[in-house]
Amino acid sequence: MRVVFLGAPGVGKGTQADRIVAQFLVAKISTGDLLREAVRNRTPLGLEAKSYMDQGNLVPDSVVIGLVQEKLSDSSCANGFVLDGFPRTVPQAEALGTVLKSKGVALDRVVNFQVPREDVVRRLSGRRSCPKCQATFHVDFAQPKVDGACDRCGEPLVQRSDDRREAIEMRLKVYDEQTAPLVHYYDERKLLFPMDASGAVDVVFRHLSQELATYQAI
Ligand code: AMP
Repeated sequence: MRVVFLGAPGVGKGTQADRIVAQFLVAKISTGDLLREAVRNRTPLGLEAKSYMDQGNLVPDSVVIGLVQEKLSDSSCANGFVLDGFPRTVPQAEALGTVLKSKGVALDRVVNFQVPREDVVRRLSGRRSCPKCQATFHVDFAQPKVDGACDRCGEPLVQRSDDRREAIEMRLKVYDEQTAPLVHYYDERKLLFPMDASGAVDVVFRHLSQELATYQAI
């Protein structure tokens, strides 16, 4: 299974990617997670990426392409992968195509997650994340058992700096300008699977796993 999860920030790509990965035992490659890890560890890459991320801008293509290229060569991807949040620009999509071709493989599907814009803003602005294990919660829709603490590891939850309102607006603008053209790009290549992701997490997951089961490794 080699799939891309495409869609605006806040449509639930990461949540669904975690569940698909657990169900089908494929690797999850989330460029957002990889970049946040680099920021936490204060690596040179993390220091470069931080200012772009805090403002809601995209990190330069060369940086994320290098990250993904490295991950795709990892043995954990042998059974397949879900790319969450990559590609986000046409040059990234082209680079992905080249890397996969050099490995003699191709994408099976690009899932386009669709959620009305006002729901996306509500989901992002109420999101709270665990800085330790990256679990996500929501102040209204997915409250932790203990107020303000992670269910998994007990760490105090935080609001990601790019989930502040100004950064959200910027991220959505960047999505419209730079990432939305990928819908057409993958549609032309007959890879696009439009997915109504506005329902409950379980409902979306059921629909998605049915579609992706076709590509399960035998
Ligand atoms: P995400 O968690 O996927 O919403 O990503 C958080 C932030 O990381 C984005 O707003 C960008 O600043 C950066 N980022 C993640 N993936 C990419 C990508 N494929 N290209 C450029 N920047 C990215």
